Amino acid sequence: MTLQLSIVVPVYNEEANIPQLVRRLVTSLDALKKTYEIIFTNDGSKDKSLELLRAASTEHKGKIRIIDFKGNFGQHMAIIAAFSKARGEIVVTLDADLQNPPEEIHKLLTKMDEGYDCVGSYRDKRQDTFFRTYVSRAVNWVREKITDIHMRDQGCMLRAYHRTIVDKIVAGNEHSTFIPALAYKLAQNPTEVEVIHAERAAGESKYNLYMLIRLNFDLITSFSIAPLQLFTMFGMLTSALSGFLVIYLLIRRIIIGPEAEGMFTLFAIEIFLISVIIVGIGLVGEYLGRLALNMSHRPRYEIRDTYED
Ligand code: UDP
Ligand code: MG
Repeated sequence: MTLQLSIVVPVYNEEANIPQLVRRLVTSLDALKKTYEIIFTNDGSKDKSLELLRAASTEHKGKIRIIDFKGNFGQHMAIIAAFSKARGEIVVTLDADLQNPPEEIHKLLTKMDEGYDCVGSYRDKRQDTFFRTYVSRAVNWVREKITDIHMRDQGCMLRAYHRTIVDKIVAGNEHSTFIPALAYKLAQNPTEVEVIHAERAAGESKYNLYMLIRLNFDLITSFSIAPLQLFTMFGMLTSALSGFLVIYLLIRRIIIGPEAEGMFTLFAIEIFLISVIIVGIGLVGEYLGRLALNMSHRPRYEIRDTYED
């Protein structure tokens, strides 16, 4: 059976948000007068999220399906798992913490009806910490410059995708990825709408600094090899410059004699070049790691159980 709409929600320790989320989701979806399903992926929550989801699925019979992961495989894997089970013609992703108000879903669907196959969104007034907002804006800018993915606000997860894109994402089998960017790449006719952004209703962000850095590495290295190429270019430039320096010092030695005072200048230059090399090795490692992950046939996530009424 195909449905008109699937809503996909990754859930990680969101017990404080689930009751309100389900209530508001079901109300706004019922109002749309479309056939729909809501798929929750429980991404290894350690709190009562799963129990609450199961209770909600009993209360709203036939509307809610649950995928229960064996552990924490990350937000984007949780979404991909739900994509692979979704039956809707249109699939909408949404966060569980009510930062993306369910009442905004209709805006995306209106755009889909106009013939777009991927409707992204940007947040009207972002309600996150100053640090998050600022850093995220910087990464957004870098991504805009070095990839051919153009969106105003990569971090906003309230997005709608046509079935064809969802199927391609599932078939792509990528390990660590960033779904909005991947979907944009696969889309024929993408667009964006403005949506309201709320503060997290309850609980704390599930991303710590380390996870955020990794996620943004995934975003950049999945979609561009420009960092590698820039690094190579920089390497060429510094080797040319240091080549000149060596020639200069050699001539100076012949004409004026050996210099000792310049020691520390040399040290400084050397330390600088060494750090450039370390960054470069790390960068190459990022891409190699990505290759290794995508070559491995290990499962990207493991499902303990699925529940559907
Ligand atoms: N999430 C998840 N697995 C994780 C981290 C987050 O499923 O490992 C879910 C989380 O429950 C929420 C969404 O992904 O529904 C976005 O997470 P969060 O709101 O913590 O991120 P932020 O808004 O701070 O970027
Ligand atoms: Mg959030």
